[in-house]
Formats: sequence, structure tokens, C-alpha cells
Amino acid sequence: MNKYALEVLENLKKKYYWEKEFLQAVEEVFKSISLLIDIEPIYQKERILERIVEPERVIIFRVPWMDDRGEIRVNTGYRVEFNSALGPYKGGLRFHPSVNLSILKFLGFDQIFKNSLTGLMMGGGKGGSDFDYKGKSDREVMRFCQSFMNELYRHIGAHTDVPAGDIGVGAREIGYLFGQYKKLKNVFEGVLTGKSINWGGSYLRPEATGFGVVYFTEEALNVRGESIEGKRVLISGAGNVAIHAAKKVLDLGGKVLSLSDSDGTIIDEDGIDEEKWKYVYELKIYRRARIKEYLEKYPHAKYYQGKRPWGLTKADIALPCATENELNLEEAKALKENGCICVIEGANMPTTLDAIEFIQKSNMIFAPGIAANAGGVGTSGFEMMQNSMMMQWTKEEVDEKLKRLMKHIHETCIKTAEEVGTPGNYINGASIAGFKKVADAMIDQGLV
Ligand code: NDP
Repeated sequence: MNKYALEVLENLKKKYYWEKEFLQAVEEVFKSISLLIDIEPIYQKERILERIVEPERVIIFRVPWMDDRGEIRVNTGYRVEFNSALGPYKGGLRFHPSVNLSILKFLGFDQIFKNSLTGLMMGGGKGGSDFDYKGKSDREVMRFCQSFMNELYRHIGAHTDVPAGDIGVGAREIGYLFGQYKKLKNVFEGVLTGKSINWGGSYLRPEATGFGVVYFTEEALNVRGESIEGKRVLISGAGNVAIHAAKKVLDLGGKVLSLSDSDGTIIDEDGIDEEKWKYVYELKIYRRARIKEYLEKYPHAKYYQGKRPWGLTKADIALPCATENELNLEEAKALKENGCICVIEGANMPTTLDAIEFIQKSNMIFAPGIAANAGGVGTSGFEMMQNSMMMQWTKEEVDEKLKRLMKHIHETCIKTAEEVGTPGNYINGASIAGFKKVADAMIDQGLV
């Protein structure tokens, strides 16, 4: 790692020693951008690294709400407004019991470079709460969302900060959040993305992250003269990203072998075909049930309690689409032994640093989430454009733009990786291209 980058990282480790996910994300990006820092002394002179690792603003707030029994509950709400050099802060809200400042800072930090890569005018941010939607009624979720927005509304706006969904925040939550924002501000504006199609949403926003991951995978395989058609694919997760990645793999002729949730993994050696996919969609997205139930309908499948899909069967492609650090070194080795040639991140930072190193050394294709899952925020950008023009593009138009966006991001990664002498290294390509644009904008805008 470049000496200056290492120095900044070491100081950060001392200052925020308990924020392990954030430090991991910074280390991953710093390793790659070192190649650029080595040849461009301006970034050290302008102290860009010290500046870029500090969020512009962090808001932490109390979220009191009442459950169905009339009991008072309290959660913690956060919004990390990380960097606005390229546009309004943009990034999802995550509602999950594991949420803390370290996780949101890692997500917000990565979001800066991801948003930059899309070429759209979006800064980086992330937020959420330690609220657990599991076991809560719709009314409880609504009351929680309203209380969350009672504070958040002061800090966001169509030209200031535009949150979206993430783990635990889908169409239902975005609806409640939007309704409360509108009530408080008395303004109907594009302050959130992931809205329902009937009132300001974009076609394909729910599908975009998963579809984009698979479009990126196809591009990366094409470079090696391969394609998804006929390939055996392992997918983790069964939420928004995983389920739509599975759909697109099916569309492109691949065989989806697995899906999972935080309880365990199902493996279906016959493949999860269209009919089974529809069943899972209903099971996970509408009924919010556990993936284990798949076996009640398809008893020939196998369920692995407490396991993740990696290495449970032979597969060519792995798409981790659930959460951070869900693919470790041991599992990466198991993937390799089982014939895997390609790991593409659908989730944010799902692969541990030592697993990434192993995958890259093994000559497997590896693409980081900041590039491969950028189709979600890219389509959020499309939603913002449609809102500001007060119009709605068709599904076909959005899909075409999404495909073009993923192709463009893929090309940028390839070209940048080659320029710094590491052809085929998507982490270097994505991090350097994403960083350079933001750093140059920060220099242009002075010391603010
Ligand atoms: P969802 O809440 O829709 O689904 C998350 C899935 O991952 C569920 O199957 C969930 O299982 C599983 N999961 C969550 N936490 C854990 C955990 N700690 N251990 C094991 N499994 C877990 O979220 P999304 O699909 O929207 O997000 C998935 C990933 O993709 C996240 O990393 C997110 O940051 C990233 N991402 C999402 C985007 C989007 O547009 N939604 C955009 C870009 C990235 P269970 O039901 O048991 O909790």
C-alpha cells in the first residue's frame, strides 16, 4: 500500500478501532487507489484521503414508537451524509438489528465510489436503524417509519439527500416514509427512490440491482469467451437483490441452484425454474416467510440449516447477494474446488479481504459490489430524473438504460485496470475510476 495511504489507514484504525466493517471497506479501497496515489502527488498535497474518510455529517437520533399492545419501544436512527462532491447524498436505508455506525459508515463510504462510477450526479450516503421488521405487524412498521421520518425529514430533500431502500426497507417501508415526509413538509417531491410505480416510482427499480449484477456478470464472462447460458449458479440471500438476480440468470439460460436466508440454504439440483421462482417470490417477498418452506412444495431439494451456499454443490458462478462478510476464505477455497470460475458481488462487501485475495490469485473472475451492484442506485438516479421531468419511462426504456449503464461501468473498470497495469482487476478499476472523479471534484470545490 502507498505510504501516505497506509499512514491515513493506521491513524483511522487508532481513532475508530471499534468500527471494523468501516475499516475493512477503507482498507479495500485504499489498497487499490494506492496505485493512483503513487503517481498523482496532488491527492496527498490536498489531504484528500484524510478528508474522504470523514463523513461530512452524521445524524443519530431517537426513534420512539408504540407497538400493537400499547407498549413503548425505542430504536436508534442514523443518517450518514458522507460526501456530496458529485451531487446530493444518495444511498439506502437499512432496517436490521445488526445496524450500527460502523456498518453504515462502511456502506456510505463504498456508496461514494459506486455512485461516482454510474456517471450520474449523486454523492454518497447511507442510513437506517436497528429496528427488526421480523414479527412486526404492518401497523407497527408504519408507526416505526413515521417516527423515523419525524426526525429524518429535517435533513433530507430532493436536492439535499435522497435515501432509498436496502436490507429491511422495501416498497412498504418507502411508502410509509414518503407519506410521513409529505405530511410534515407539505411537498410532493422525489425525496426517496424505490417509490411505488403508481406515485413516482420507476419501472424496474426493485429488479434493477439483481438484473444489473447479472448484466455485469455476462459482460465479465464475455471477456473470457464465456456466457451465463448453461452455467450452474449459486446465489445467497432470498431478498430483493437475490431474487431478481435469480430471475435474470434464468432469462439468460443459466441454472440457479441455491437461495438462502439468515437461517439456512436450499439447494435444488434440478434448478430453480420459472415456476419455482414464482413460488419463492411469493414466499419471500409477499409472505416474508423462511426459505426452508421451499421444501414443503419441492421436497426433492435439500435444506442446510445454518449454512451458506458456497461449496455445497458444484457450480461455475457464485453471486453473494445477502449481506457483508458472507463469503470467507474457507468458503472461497470450497468454491474453487467445486469448479467456480467467477464471483460477482451482488451484496455490499460480502467477501472478506483474505477471500478476495485468494479468488484473485486463483485466476477466478472477481468483481466488487461497488461496480457490480451499481445498477440499483443507477436506476434510483433514473427515478430522480423521471421525477424532475414529471414523467415515466417504459419498462423497456429503463431496462435498455440499465443494460447500457452496466456495460459502461464494466468498460470503465476494464479500461482503468489496464491503465494502472493490472488488467482484469475489477477492484482496482472500480475503486480508482470511482475515487478519481470524486477526489478531483473535491479539489475543484475547495476546502469545504
Ligand atoms: P433484503 O432485505 O431484501 O434481503 C436480504 C437477504 O439477505 C435476506 O434473504 C436476508 O435473510 C439475508 N440476510 C440479511 N442479513 C443477513 C445476515 N446477517 N446473515 C445472513 N443472511 C442475511 O435486502 P436486499 O436484497 O435489498 O440487500 C441485500 C444486499 O444487497 C445488502 O448487502 C445490500 O446492502 C445490497 N444492496 C442492495 C441494493 C438494493 O437496491 N436493495 C442495492 C445495492 C446493494 P433474512 O430474511 O433471514 O434476514
